[in-house]
Amino acid sequence: MGKLDGRVVVVTGAARGQGEQEARLFVAEGASVVVADVLDEQGRALAEELGALYVHLDVGREEDWRAALAATKRAYGRLDGLVNNAGILRFNSLVDTPLDEFMQVVQVNQVGCFLGMKTAAPEMADGGTIVNTASYTALTGMAAVGTYAATKHAVLGLTRVAALELAARRIRVNAVCPGAIDTAMANPARLDPGADPEEMTRALDELYRKLVPLGRIGRPEEVARLALFLTSEDSSYITGQPFVIDGGWLAGVSVI
Ligand code: NAD
Repeated sequence: MGKLDGRVVVVTGAARGQGEQEARLFVAEGASVVVADVLDEQGRALAEELGALYVHLDVGREEDWRAALAATKRAYGRLDGLVNNAGILRFNSLVDTPLDEFMQVVQVNQVGCFLGMKTAAPEMADGGTIVNTASYTALTGMAAVGTYAATKHAVLGLTRVAALELAARRIRVNAVCPGAIDTAMANPARLDPGADPEEMTRALDELYRKLVPLGRIGRPEEVARLALFLTSEDSSYITGQPFVIDGGWLAGVSVI
């Protein structure tokens, strides 16, 4: 028995990183998964490997959402879960951030999450689940990522409101708030085909050894397990909450 037997779940930004691990784990737990991304080649290859459906979905475009959900219904006949995972990050101080860059991040991280819930919830079976991917920076500040932090704070606000509005249909809405996770976002060297991933992970663990109480960067598989918990019946009495998964980073600072 899988924890998601018979359930149909859309995962956005699933071609790589955390979304990829969520898609892999959800399929292993019995779900029919829709891999949604703008990286068509990678997304298609993953979907083919997993026996999943691939859809091209730019989360900031409402027409893409409508087409993706229609394709989901055609393929599987229902929708039970959504993981709003797609996101982008830009580094800049606030005063140096061009408005275009600010709006680009808002369009993907914030509008994408809003459109996902707005278009998917009416199509979703009662008792469904939505997991929004916020961040450690949804709960605290971090210099040089102001735009990103603003959108992730907004994702938490949307999560809480959606949880209230959808509870009558027993649709539960929660957010994951990862700290630093070893994907291309925190480790752009992952996109370098010439680099050794094991070596990169060791270098990142060393970097985060002093910063994070658990002494290492997180793994995308660990976030996937939290997303599984929030998508399965194991979290049946939980809605509207942020779940921090950061190796203790947000707990505070140590002076010893
Ligand atoms: P990643 O860059 O490997 O994956 C992001 C995925 O989103 C990619 O597959 C990308 O193609 C996709 N994407 C980007 N724009 C899109 C769009 N407009 N429409 C559809 N898909 C789009 O990074 P990741 O770490 O796997 O990121 C997943 C989520 O986790 C993001 O929301 C990110 O903000 C969040 N997050 C990451 C970290 C971290 O340290 N890696 C920490 C906190 C939160």
